[in-house]
Amino acid sequence: MSAEPDGPEDRLRRFATIWSRAVFPVTSTSSTRPEFEERLLPLARLLSEALRARSFDADAGRAAGAALVEAHCTDPEALSRTLDCVDAYLVLYCGEDGDREDLRARSARLQHAMAAGFAQALRERTLTEQEAIARAALEAQGVVAQALHATEARFRAVFEGAAIGIGIADLEGNVLQVNGALRRMFGLSEQALRGRSVKEWVHPDDAPQTWRLYDELVSGEREHYHLEKAFYRPDGTVLWTNLTVSLLRDADGDPQYQLALMEDTTERRLLNLRLRYEATHDALTGLPNRAFFFERLEKALGAGEGQRFGLCYLDLDGFKTVNDSLGHAAGDRLLVEVADRLQACATASGEMVARLGGDEFVALTTGPETERTVDELAARIMNALLAPISVDGRELTVRGSIGIVEGPAGERSAAEVLRSADITMYRAKSAGGNRFELADPEADARAITRHGLTTALPTALDRGEFFIEYQPLVHLGDGSVRGAEALVRWLHPQHGVLSPDRFIPLAEHTGLIVPLGRWVLEQSVRQAREWRDRHGGEALGPLRINVNLSPCQLTHPGLVQDTVEILERTGMTPDALCLEVTESALIGADDDLLKPLRRLAEMGVDIALDDFGTGYSNLANLRRLPVSVLKLDRSFTQSMQQFPADPVDLKIVEGIVSLAHSLDLAVTVEGVETGAQAEQLRILGCDTAQGWYYARPGPPDRLHELALVDATG
Ligand code: C2E
Ligand code: MG
Ligand code: MG
Repeated sequence: MSAEPDGPEDRLRRFATIWSRAVFPVTSTSSTRPEFEERLLPLARLLSEALRARSFDADAGRAAGAALVEAHCTDPEALSRTLDCVDAYLVLYCGEDGDREDLRARSARLQHAMAAGFAQALRERTLTEQEAIARAALEAQGVVAQALHATEARFRAVFEGAAIGIGIADLEGNVLQVNGALRRMFGLSEQALRGRSVKEWVHPDDAPQTWRLYDELVSGEREHYHLEKAFYRPDGTVLWTNLTVSLLRDADGDPQYQLALMEDTTERRLLNLRLRYEATHDALTGLPNRAFFFERLEKALGAGEGQRFGLCYLDLDGFKTVNDSLGHAAGDRLLVEVADRLQACATASGEMVARLGGDEFVALTTGPETERTVDELAARIMNALLAPISVDGRELTVRGSIGIVEGPAGERSAAEVLRSADITMYRAKSAGGNRFELADPEADARAITRHGLTTALPTALDRGEFFIEYQPLVHLGDGSVRGAEALVRWLHPQHGVLSPDRFIPLAEHTGLIVPLGRWVLEQSVRQAREWRDRHGGEALGPLRINVNLSPCQLTHPGLVQDTVEILERTGMTPDALCLEVTESALIGADDDLLKPLRRLAEMGVDIALDDFGTGYSNLANLRRLPVSVLKLDRSFTQSMQQFPADPVDLKIVEGIVSLAHSLDLAVTVEGVETGAQAEQLRILGCDTAQGWYYARPGPPDRLHELALVDATG
């Protein structure tokens, strides 16, 4: 069977399957698991579309959360599993080609909206149920009123048998009668309740209007009221109720009693609190989670004039090693301890610590003084990590890298701030870790472009966005053009022409350098062939082509084969080609690494040691290398710019040249910008030169002109 790559629809389906598997066991639905999956599929689609929409709207998350309640997923565990699932898989399966950080931020906001939508739907559902109860209660009230006036026996039956708490008090507030349900709620006997005053039941969480409504009722201005109210039980615990109080009038219509109907909502309330907590906290460390943090950061960024924010983005150094060597359980214990220590660092008001996931934490400080407080916060965090953490009897040293972003509220979005913090943290990490760095907009911009360039690289080669410029290599003795160095450029659709320094390191990092390098080699050898065909070049000897090789190309097994094939295809002899390898790539190279170069050299390809003099290589080592040309680095030429040139520098160059010649190596100098430099280098015995004095790198036909001019002039 041919393995077709999954389309977006397959991936969406896979996400829905995983989701339904996770949640199905905790639903109270009567459908089967596959049926349940069908119910989740449109919700998955909703989330997936919101994730990738051009302009982001978290409402899809709310709708999905509400739909979960409708699908009978009312258990808090269902929500918690859903959020875990979305966190782990939504971006993975539904966000192929977006910006990772942005997608993660969107996913976090969607999760948050889902939790909110879920909680609200659950609340609404509960309210609907409560309304039904309240209606029943009002009906009961009618019955009670009648019963009071009619037969005592019937009244007793209704009163005692009711599932909701019922109490009757006079208009002064003295409790006259309570039913069994109410006694059970309070955990008190009838004696203990009777004669108490309703007005004693003040609770600090009473809504402001509670006692005003009460006064209006007992004075006959209102017939009833309905609110949520808390009561203390005798053992100090709190009872939460949905309370409906009605006024009972006598036969003449005068106010006579007050009737309270109450439903115990304590459990439901706890459940709601737990739900909210679980949706906003990390299960392992108990710290606020990503969604909660986003909410707080957005609030801080939306604060008014004069308010600022400061954020420390912490990533532990080498945490993966702990996980890999000691196991995940040990890793978890380490994270819990780190979380505790961090929490102790941010206790002032306006400060918070959260876990973003894995070994990433953030600490936030807000207020008008964050320029100062964020530095102090970062210092406290570094300090808190100093003492080793003991896990399974081992003392582990924990280090971290922190990226700090600080600034005024109201300028940037939460996602932008977090991205900047992330980039800065990576800067701290690549500077060796165990330190903090301050965000710098320029560095951010560079990193963002770098990121953009990296993702654009692979298609750039297919789209033909690279081109090659050639810079002549000139013989210092007679001024004739002997060849050219091929220098690659990238014509980027947005950024224009980019120099190799901007993208070669990225191509090396991603491995694209191998196909790119092969392309450069093929193009330049073809170009050399064209020069030979058009120009003949007998008088000057054939023009040779220099091509740069990256260290990764050296270790690539196809190097020799590719080179041979290219030479054969173009009908060029190996001695028309010179491969430039930097000195640093060959420092400490063992025989295995040198083998392909040696084979190429044996075939007659020249190998040049590029940027010589920058890599501190041992001169005696040169004998071991299969090189035939030394390219003296630009820095030597630069030091000859002032007049008179530093005599020590001159001696060094002279020494290198004579050593090179005694080893049978030709010497080329780079970066020749003036005639004086060229003359000086000629006197010192250098063979060929390259630089702006002769020509800047340019299109291939320019070289042709130069060669002709030189030959005739
Ligand atoms: P390199 O091989 O040392 O190339 C010489 C660099 O010096 C070129 O920079 C050239 O434009 C510059 N240059 C030439 N004459 C002068 C001068 O008189 N004054 C000054 N200040 N500079 C001069 P470029 O083109 O930016 O290339 C930079 C580096 O990128 C190259 O250094 C080479 O290491 C790498 N590179 C270029 N093309 C390729 C390629 O196709 N493959 C690989 N792997 N690396 C390449
Ligand atoms: Mg070079
Ligand atoms: Mg060079």
